[in-house]
Amino acid sequence: MATTLELKTEHNPSWCQGCGNYGILNGLKAAISQAGFEPHLTVLVSGIGCSGKDPHFVKTYGFEGIHGRVLPVATAIRLANHRLKVIGCSGDGDAYGIGGNHLLHTMRRNVEITYLVHDNQIYGLTTGQTSPTSIKGFATKSTPFGAIEEPINPVSLAIAAGATFVARVFVGEFNHFKQVLAQALKHKGFALVDILQPCVTFNYLNTYQWFSQRVYKLDDEIGSEPPDRIKAFNRAQEWGERIPIGVFFQETKPTYEDQLPQLKEGPLAEQDISSVDIKKTLSEFI
Ligand code: SF4
Repeated sequence: MATTLELKTEHNPSWCQGCGNYGILNGLKAAISQAGFEPHLTVLVSGIGCSGKDPHFVKTYGFEGIHGRVLPVATAIRLANHRLKVIGCSGDGDAYGIGGNHLLHTMRRNVEITYLVHDNQIYGLTTGQTSPTSIKGFATKSTPFGAIEEPINPVSLAIAAGATFVARVFVGEFNHFKQVLAQALKHKGFALVDILQPCVTFNYLNTYQWFSQRVYKLDDEIGSEPPDRIKAFNRAQEWGERIPIGVFFQETKPTYEDQLPQLKEGPLAEQDISSVDIKKTLSEFI
């Protein structure tokens, strides 16, 4: 187990001052430390975007890949060694735009990955274009007269697609964010945590103040209910003057890894493959 301080790397973030990414990074390091995950058994996987830098700042294993491909890489890591704790870090463009197809299939497979989506409703790294979660009418560099598309509701999408843990948090509610993150990291299966995270440089609409005036905690209004996918979906439809945050849905189901016969004898990375004739297998594909 490592302390939050021990999880700090020699690199310092260069995110804009006030960016919500700082809170996410601090919450993530605190949650890894409190959960007791060993750094050498933990892997952070990211794509492209301001969120893509997360693995540089946490002293675990890390992989920064290409745009939208966090989940295929994270899945491959889990299948190679399912003793590892695998955490994916994406932005809303990475997760719901470029990587949208991977998200659907990873959710229905229930691969054990904790997926943290830094959702700031804009492409920040490329200096401010409309993203899949931008609100209709939002004017950006790519939509100067206002976005004409309806945004994706990631929470509804995940509930409908069969995800076994679905949550939304606001990084400005830091203690609540950490509490939900701890739950997500413990979940045995795929966990989506959609994190409302203001981009202070390019998104002048969805600010800390804008979210603070709207978010409310599900626990305060409905308490803890038994899992019901339809009720959770209906609650997830609420977005506007009031925005619910918390765990919308959680259930226990076998993971993809649990069901693979090849993994019954332990992680592939630990199996003796010295007798496998890899040349013969490769020749079938050449
Ligand atoms: Fe954060 Fe936006 Fe700056 Fe990126 S561009 S670091 S998301 S404030």
